[in-house]
Amino acid sequence: VSLSERGEFGFIERMRSWLPDGGATVGIGDDAAVVETTGNSVVAATDALVEGVHFRSDWSSPSDTGFKAVSVNVSDIAAMGACPRWILLALCAPPETTEEVLRGLYEGIEEACAAYGTELVGGDTVRAPQLTLVVTAIGELEGKEPVTRSGAEVGDVVAVTGPLGRAAVGVNLLLSQDAKDSSPEDAIACMAAHRRPRARVDAGAQLHQVAAHAAIDLSDGLGSDARRLSESSGVGFEIDLGRVPVAPEAGRIAAARGWDIERIVLGGGEDFELLVALPREQLEGTDWIEIGRVVDDGLWLVRDGQSVPLPDEGYDHFRT
Ligand SMILES: [Mg+2]
Repeated sequence: VSLSERGEFGFIERMRSWLPDGGATVGIGDDAAVVETTGNSVVAATDALVEGVHFRSDWSSPSDTGFKAVSVNVSDIAAMGACPRWILLALCAPPETTEEVLRGLYEGIEEACAAYGTELVGGDTVRAPQLTLVVTAIGELEGKEPVTRSGAEVGDVVAVTGPLGRAAVGVNLLLSQDAKDSSPEDAIACMAAHRRPRARVDAGAQLHQVAAHAAIDLSDGLGSDARRLSESSGVGFEIDLGRVPVAPEAGRIAAARGWDIERIVLGGGEDFELLVALPREQLEGTDWIEIGRVVDDGLWLVRDGQSVPLPDEGYDHFRT
């Protein structure tokens, strides 16, 4: 069986079966790992950005790429309700990479570190056929329990921490190489969301205040990530499509171009907002948006008052 036949998530399931359970409080399969130190819990997550797979040098500057590499990792730390503290970077680069490019990468990394209150504390540099940034983020729970994917309870509200769709519309614009029928401001906002996503560290810090039962960061699309959250929790979700907040810039561009905004939001990904299951009474006092509720089982999309099964169309690296 090849990696492409197995699919990314099939592979992860498979790989988990090859490994011993280990001593981590939360191991492979959540937004970040949780390990115990004496007296305090540490949260760790790692994510790679590969040129040609996750970023294109003709779409993103080196500084954008550095920024994004930190953001996507910090986002996983935030999704656990932890405070990001340290960053490690394994930089894999072709020998002909110029100092200008390297400088740009580290500028972006440093900008992101400053924005999130983190610090690059180590890493590695190796020769590789294409530019790859493997970032590890380490955070602290500061005595609190981790907010995992597995605690959603029937009756919980399902909420997102902000509007969706900008990054996916940005990618579509970059792919089409044409921003016709859209205002420059809208196009720039959407492309920036793809190039320089912001991790919701503030929302991550709020997870404990609202006694969140479960959370995941939206990296692969609402449809795919909602599926993972519900499966980990062993419950069903009902998502009310009419309530899902579409970023106005993304909505305007999609409408002008005739793109299906529902597909973009469900399958597009890279929003890096948090998807949270929490007790209904806790939603008040947040600016998060209620998009559905936790039910006994199944994954449902309420569209025009009709409940239909949620389409399975998130992003999966190895599926072909
Ligand atoms: Mg994640």
